[in-house]
Amino acid sequence: MAQISLDSVSKSFGSVNVINDISLTVNSGEFVVFLGPSGSGKSTLLRMIAGLETIDTGGLTIGEVRSERLAPGQRNVAMVFQNYALYPHMTVKENMAFGLRNIGMSAADVDQRVKEAARMLEMEELLDRRPAQLSGGQRQRVAIGRAIVKEPKAFLFDEPLSNLDAALRVRTRVELAELHNRMKSTMIYVTHDQTEAMTLADRIVVLNNCRIEQIGTPMDVYLKPASRFVAGFVGSPG
Ligand code: ADP
Ligand code: MG
Repeated sequence: MAQISLDSVSKSFGSVNVINDISLTVNSGEFVVFLGPSGSGKSTLLRMIAGLETIDTGGLTIGEVRSERLAPGQRNVAMVFQNYALYPHMTVKENMAFGLRNIGMSAADVDQRVKEAARMLEMEELLDRRPAQLSGGQRQRVAIGRAIVKEPKAFLFDEPLSNLDAALRVRTRVELAELHNRMKSTMIYVTHDQTEAMTLADRIVVLNNCRIEQIGTPMDVYLKPASRFVAGFVGSPG
């Protein structure tokens, strides 16, 4: 079942075209990676799905509803940013609870969801700390936890591992794959890193110059690249 579809979506900032006629469908439960070099439009595309950027032309549908009829808060998606975007004055627990309190969930329900997510991410001992008292990796877990408690229909990740050191990047990547297996939720994941794309994706959307170069499974993209650009970018053999 289609969870999110884009139909000929385009966008310009001023006179600069940054998204050019993009159509794609993300199915329910699918892990889709937007892979492309810096400036290829990955973040803009993700932000459009989240409702943080407007669309100039074309259509976006989320769970069968046209995006014009859905405010960002009604989209049932949770975004995890590269820089974590935690509230510095709040504890971990408060950071995770904030979005739920805002939609009027009872304190007991909020508490239960926060505890459950903290257990899942093995960070129960961090709940009373503030972001300044956490390592980069721990901050990223909090950002992921804050998305999990919303029980969203889809997770949107924007280069979530790029500020972590190499060892932690691998560990967190494996954990994200496990999280996806366990929650069976739809995930859209933006990266410029071929290894992340190859290891995480059910399907990869290769972006370049504001356009889609190819959509396919990791094996398709690697073994049957649709263009020289794709072959070079993913390091295809031959
Ligand atoms: P990526 O995430 O792939 O690096 P982005 O989606 O951030 O790419 O950016 C795509 C293009 O849009 C870039 O050329 C960038 O400079 C431009 N861009 C992004 N946001 C804005 C903005 N708010 N105003 C003007 N140009 C922007
Ligand atoms: Mg980006």
